[in-house]
Amino acid sequence: MTHAVIIGGGIAGLATAYYLQKKSAETGLPIDYTLVESEPRLGGKIITKTIDDFVIEGGPDSIVTTKPWGAKLCRDLGLDDELIPTNDYKRGIFVLNKGKLVDFPGGFRLTIPTEFIPFALSPLISPLGKLRMAMDLFIPPRQESGDESLGDFIRRRLGDEALKKIAGPMMAGIYVADPEKLSLKSTFPQFMAMEQKYGSLIKAMQHAKKNRPTNGAKPSPMFLSLKGGLNDLVKTLVKQLKGELCLGQRVTRLKADKTGFHVFTDHSQTPIYADAVILAVPAYVAADLIEPILPELAQLQRQIRYVSTATISLGYRRADVIKQHPFNGFGFLIPQSEQRKIIACTWTSTKFDCRASDDDVLVRVFVGGDGQEAHVTLPDDQLLTLVKKELSDIMGVTAQPVVHQIFRWVKGNPQYDVGHMERVDAMEALTRQIPGLYLNGSAYRGVGIPDCVKGALETVDYLFEQLHGKA
Ligand SMILES: Cc1cc2nc3c(=O)[nH]c(=O)nc-3n(C[C@H](O)[C@H](O)[C@H](O)COP(=O)(O)OP(=O)(O)OC[C@H]3O[C@@H](n4cnc5c(N)ncnc54)[C@H](O)[C@@H]3O)c2cc1C
Repeated sequence: MTHAVIIGGGIAGLATAYYLQKKSAETGLPIDYTLVESEPRLGGKIITKTIDDFVIEGGPDSIVTTKPWGAKLCRDLGLDDELIPTNDYKRGIFVLNKGKLVDFPGGFRLTIPTEFIPFALSPLISPLGKLRMAMDLFIPPRQESGDESLGDFIRRRLGDEALKKIAGPMMAGIYVADPEKLSLKSTFPQFMAMEQKYGSLIKAMQHAKKNRPTNGAKPSPMFLSLKGGLNDLVKTLVKQLKGELCLGQRVTRLKADKTGFHVFTDHSQTPIYADAVILAVPAYVAADLIEPILPELAQLQRQIRYVSTATISLGYRRADVIKQHPFNGFGFLIPQSEQRKIIACTWTSTKFDCRASDDDVLVRVFVGGDGQEAHVTLPDDQLLTLVKKELSDIMGVTAQPVVHQIFRWVKGNPQYDVGHMERVDAMEALTRQIPGLYLNGSAYRGVGIPDCVKGALETVDYLFEQLHGKA
């Protein structure tokens, strides 16, 4: 019997365990596994806390639908009836501009205007800024094919104002990253392809819009979640796992020899033997474990920077706040130029149903990210005061929340800096030198849940391919 050890019980490790078990059953190839997680709970960044009727997410709150693997995992687990869509009919997004929340113009797909009227009428971008964006139609495509930063790309095609007011908060915001460091190739490769194919982003978007099917079918929602919160994904998955789960045990050392791997934990002197090891931990943890086996790989893994963030959820009685703000959208983004202490806010109970009772409102505020990490480690009372002051200044909400919950993610967000994809390709090439060693998780080929699940599916396929003879 082949034995695999999965290190890390976040979604990347859990999905690997699930699909390993599934493929073993489907193929009849006997593989069993041990999953080792340092914390006493499974799920990693996925954590939901329910307080009264408030369903509060600490990490991810949604699964994007344009990448199918997150929803696939939910369906494979039988969670179809638990899936809830975003309330896209209320999907307005706002941007803070000179201290005021301004509607993000309709007709934008990510950063690029696809419809003329809402764009022309939007007060968000100055007339000169709009003219500069329109120059995208005439600027020749870049000749070099290598990576560049999101900042350089947007500035080159659409101008500085589009970068500061739209692309920075929206696109870099997803990665809590500095757009001047963020790798375009690793995060928005489709934009590179659009520039090369159509010579202009606006033309490419217009082309895509014209060719969108118009059979009257309802467009699929932008995001999905689960009625009880995303931790239900973890709970359901874990219930179906048949392998050994070792919680509260930190992997401290890895040893490889001709027979396989020896996985040492802080729990026992005796290592766990493994034919295959899947590292589903942050890159800096993987680097320490890999160091004695493949120091070149460890060195590359250490080049992946991590930044810290925190989410602060506040629950209000609707009657207390509704006269102060209508919560008429999914929330707002804040460009760096506004110099606020928070980076974004989700109006959670508008974005999804099942997040608060009809009499309540739930919002979630983000702090931290590249360049703003100091706020993350403030004591709870100071962080709460800071967040309430920001919401009062920006939204006019002065009512006291009836519930609050803070989650800190210290070194929780991998940064895909320029050149990231090349580094990951090199890491994977090095990993292949050690048969039976695999890397998965948000450090490498996508930070979201769907990417981690895709990584799990690919890891399992590759592992079966490699171990086929051995199993
Ligand atoms: C605030 C926030 C909001 C987000 N929002 C979204 C969203 O809406 N949608 C989305 O798709 N994604 C979102 N993400 C990203 C997504 O949540 C993560 O990228 C994903 O959950 C990471 O999964 P993972 O398994 O790679 O890592 P993790 O969840 O970090 O899991 C790694 C696990 O390894 C364990 N571990 C570490 N060291 C050791 C060791 N030595 N031995 C054993 N175990 C160890 C850790 O305890 C942890 O449980 C968000 C992230 C954050 C922080």
